[in-house]
Amino acid sequence: MSCGGEHGYAGPWWGFPPLRDAALAGVLAGGAFLLELADVIPHAGALAAYLAAIALGGHHWAREGLEKLLREREVGIEMLMIAATGGAGALGLWDEAAALVVLYGVAEGVEELTFARTRRAIRALLDLAPKQARLLRDGRETLVPAAELRPGDRFVVRPGEAVATDGIIVEGEASLDESAVTGESVPVDKGPGARVFAASVCHGGALVVEATARFEDNTLSRIVHLVETAQERKGRAQAWMERFGRRYSPAVLATAALFLLLPLPFGWEWASWAHRAVVLLVAAAPCALVISLPIAVSAGIGAAGRRGILIKGGAHLEHLATARVVAFDKTGTLTHGRPEVAAVEPLAPGLDEAGALALAAALEARSEHPLARAIVRHARALGIEPRPAAGFRALPGAGVEGEIDGARWRLMRPGTGGLRLAGEAAGRCAALEEAGHTVVVLAREGGGAAALLALADHVRDEAPEAVRRLHALGVRTVMLTGDNPRAAARVAAAVGIDEVRAGLRPEEKVAAVRALESRHGAVIMVGDGINDAPALAAATCGMAMGAAGTDAAIEAADVALMADDLLKVAEALELGRRARRVSLQNIAFALAVLAALIPLAVLGRISVALAVLVHEASELAAVANGLRAGRPPRPADRPRAA
Ligand code: ADP
Ligand code: MG
Repeated sequence: MSCGGEHGYAGPWWGFPPLRDAALAGVLAGGAFLLELADVIPHAGALAAYLAAIALGGHHWAREGLEKLLREREVGIEMLMIAATGGAGALGLWDEAAALVVLYGVAEGVEELTFARTRRAIRALLDLAPKQARLLRDGRETLVPAAELRPGDRFVVRPGEAVATDGIIVEGEASLDESAVTGESVPVDKGPGARVFAASVCHGGALVVEATARFEDNTLSRIVHLVETAQERKGRAQAWMERFGRRYSPAVLATAALFLLLPLPFGWEWASWAHRAVVLLVAAAPCALVISLPIAVSAGIGAAGRRGILIKGGAHLEHLATARVVAFDKTGTLTHGRPEVAAVEPLAPGLDEAGALALAAALEARSEHPLARAIVRHARALGIEPRPAAGFRALPGAGVEGEIDGARWRLMRPGTGGLRLAGEAAGRCAALEEAGHTVVVLAREGGGAAALLALADHVRDEAPEAVRRLHALGVRTVMLTGDNPRAAARVAAAVGIDEVRAGLRPEEKVAAVRALESRHGAVIMVGDGINDAPALAAATCGMAMGAAGTDAAIEAADVALMADDLLKVAEALELGRRARRVSLQNIAFALAVLAALIPLAVLGRISVALAVLVHEASELAAVANGLRAGRPPRPADRPRAA
């Protein structure tokens, strides 16, 4: 960026050195101007004051410009301003030179400070976590700094207090407001065994929590860190703008130099053209233009972070704004991902329901898949403790296999693993699928189907609304699932999804994402981030849902939604569009100002001071407008019929 640097300043504006010095320089130069006007001081006195003001107000940005020139061999906007100041002085316009230095310094200072603040806004989340914790040791509570908690330590959280760091509830039940992490203010009821996050406020009961992370690596700290890094990551548009700036500023400098030479062969009045050259340097400096994108991107990403939407950089903010397709995984994304066993139907002679379930649970004992957990849970509920099968193997998108009592067994999706259902088994399977169930087949290696297990999952309550909001944004929705076409169609109909692709193996999901991308451009893939990693990685922008607490999902996703709430998908798109709209407004505005000022400068119709004033005012307007990217989406960014 040519305008403004990056500082982690957190104090008041008057303590911010570039701004403070520019303001003091303004008082000095303005005072001298008035005193000379009132004949209190001689011209020489005023001149000395102007020179002092230039030194005071200009040293911050002039140093930055010179460093850029020497280290990066790049002509920044600061060089244009240095040349303009020198030029104005050479023409004897020291008052205008001082005005330039002061106003440019103020605008730069405001811009840098605003930047620092959009970055610090996310840090405010950390303040929501308590500084102290009630450490529990030998049955006694002692107050210790939260930063001293170590994994394994137990601490007490009283009603009304916030949790000090991530942990697992050991004792007690409470309703937790997790909005600091998830951006969602509806409290969640939790009890022993449940995970809690730092800065969650505990209502209705006291908890004993066993810490699972130190403060600096808990979920909240990671969010803050990721957002801060993301705010620095430039999108394509921003990178393009910077490349443009690198060519544009030297061109302006060269044009101004040309103005000094032009009058010579033609015998035009040199002083007038020298003045035009100085005005041009200021009028054509693209300050407002180069700030247009960074400020909106930084404000947008920061605001999203505070709402539990982690956007990993400017590029993904752009994708959120431009994507015309959102693809969803089904299990765990459109549905709760907590399927329940609805039926167990033994097919093999001599095998009863309990026997089939015991075999299935033994195969699933080591699997993390939601279907596996459901089967194991169901078996336990019926008093069957699964004995984990030997030689367990997960076949992603298909099922599991393992060895039980010397025989190899499989539990898989119908039609995979060389297993074909025929006759009565095929009929039963079709009927169960027709009812919206996911069916898996238990089979012994080399043998036919021994049993069918049907599992039912529930569509998330907010799914239809989430899809409606996306449609209102003009976005096409697609469901990609490994599940059977009949169950998939039922879910799609319940949710209102436009297009369904079912029975996909993980690599076919990846191919489907690529095909969507080549047909519609940027594709957002929404998944739970665990068993959908390849598809998420293949999409233009992979969005993981319910990422709080699953570090792998937070790391792997391009956009991580902390809450387990599908409405956040539309909210993320709305934030992206808002940031884009604000950026485009800023660019249009900046170009309009340049288009107005440059001809006036060339024609010699404006003074240095006026050019500076308009130029800096436009920069400040761009900064102020850019901040709107961080405000909550307004009706204009929201679908009408939501
Ligand atoms: P989704 O696309 O709905 O998230 P997956 O790709 O994880 O589903 O799985 C696709 C299908 O493969 C499931 O519907 C199920 O039939 C089968 N499957 C995958 N893993 C398992 C497992 N551990 N146990 C039984 N069946 C499984
Ligand atoms: Mg899945």
